[in-house]
Amino acid sequence: MKRMLLMGPPGSGKGTQAERISSQLGIVAISTGDIFRENVRSRTKLGTEAKQYIDRGDFVPDSITNNMVCDRLAQVDVADGFLLDGYPRTVTQAQFLDHVLADKGQQLDCVLQLTADSEELVTRLLKRATVDGRTDDTEKVIRRRLDLYQHETEAVVWHYEELGLLTRVNGTGPVEEITRLILPA
Ligand code: ADP
Repeated sequence: MKRMLLMGPPGSGKGTQAERISSQLGIVAISTGDIFRENVRSRTKLGTEAKQYIDRGDFVPDSITNNMVCDRLAQVDVADGFLLDGYPRTVTQAQFLDHVLADKGQQLDCVLQLTADSEELVTRLLKRATVDGRTDDTEKVIRRRLDLYQHETEAVVWHYEELGLLTRVNGTGPVEEITRLILPA
């Protein structure tokens, strides 16, 4: 049983590694970005609310995001553990998560942070834009997302570092090698 967070700036490969880790460990991967995008696609109320923030590269407000994560963590497939990808991104979200888990008598086992140089990140995201066509992968919006990571989410990383939960992993190099660094055989 593992309860893990996967952190890292936009373009650091969280989604790719989250899938690999979750299948190797047999735990569910929960990506807040994916959940928002699914809601945008299916035009739910949540999707309509979230879209304006996502398209600007802003965070969806904490109240909306926290509610959504709380509902997701109440589902049965989370009982065996989980890997949260892209949450928490603010100190308020981290505090909320701590409370949600404490209420269930649970705690996090580890927090991984994928790192990469910011020019490398911009290059990767612009390349992804041509493949996936994500509306938030334009240079202006990418820079906004990187900026928010630095100014808001880095503080969350420090929070987990202080708690002794953090492991940093170099996110540049072959995908398989990065997974091996995360999950040594
Ligand atoms: P990336 O890490 O490349 O920015 P994601 O798919 O994880 O991509 O997130 C896409 C967008 O979804 C974010 O820019 C933000 O608008 C929204 N989002 C995802 N997770 C959160 C979160 N924890 N808090 C607020 N907004 C979020």
